[in-house]
Amino acid sequence: MNIRGFQKFTLVDFPGRMACVVFVGECNFRCGYCHNPCLVFDPESQPLISEDEIVSFLEKRKGKLDGVVVSGGEPSLRDGLEEFMLKIKRLGFLVKLDTNGSNPERVITAIRDGLIDALGIDYKAPSYKYNEIANCCAKDLSSKVRSIIKYAVDNDIFIDVRTTVHQRLLSRGDLTEMRTELSALGLREWTLQQFNPVEIIDDELLAAGTYSDTELVEIASSLPDTRVRGLSGIFID
Ligand code: SF4
Repeated sequence: MNIRGFQKFTLVDFPGRMACVVFVGECNFRCGYCHNPCLVFDPESQPLISEDEIVSFLEKRKGKLDGVVVSGGEPSLRDGLEEFMLKIKRLGFLVKLDTNGSNPERVITAIRDGLIDALGIDYKAPSYKYNEIANCCAKDLSSKVRSIIKYAVDNDIFIDVRTTVHQRLLSRGDLTEMRTELSALGLREWTLQQFNPVEIIDDELLAAGTYSDTELVEIASSLPDTRVRGLSGIFID
């Protein structure tokens, strides 16, 4: 699975659950605001963590944690993802998969096989600029991402759809269009995430101005069922 990071506890990454987070290396996107560039470009720079270590940790956390978030990087690129999630499920934990949505067939099959209880997915841009913002030339990318969201909505699978917002990448008009696209899929709640000015892929975003929390909240309040998650991971209004 190429596990290159492990967070033993989180209250914000698996909504309503106490969880830990497993981070896998490598990604097929190059989002400018990605704050895990070492996982994307150089996962080998981080210590390799074995699945046995995770399993051993979970055995000691039965009854204390509810679930495991499998995140990245992009987990759906990894061999052995399904086997790893099955191990987690057999230990009695819920699984939330964080995915960039580029691999809908694999993710939907895993849901059908009962390996995934919840999804986290970044909806990165309106369809007309999806490839540009993801820095990925994959064909039909926005359609692929939307197909996972639609599947989750239609099948009542919990899905946390969020968008990292930087003013240089997404205008107010872009955000309005994204809300329209998500509503067309039947999605209600959508979260705008504040840009996190840490070590990222595109340094120019650090120097460029972006929306303040107040501006983001004002944008969200002009759109249906849209809220803002601040840098602490807590919703703000
Ligand atoms: S999809 Fe996620 S992990 Fe991949 S480059 Fe974008 S923000 Fe980083």
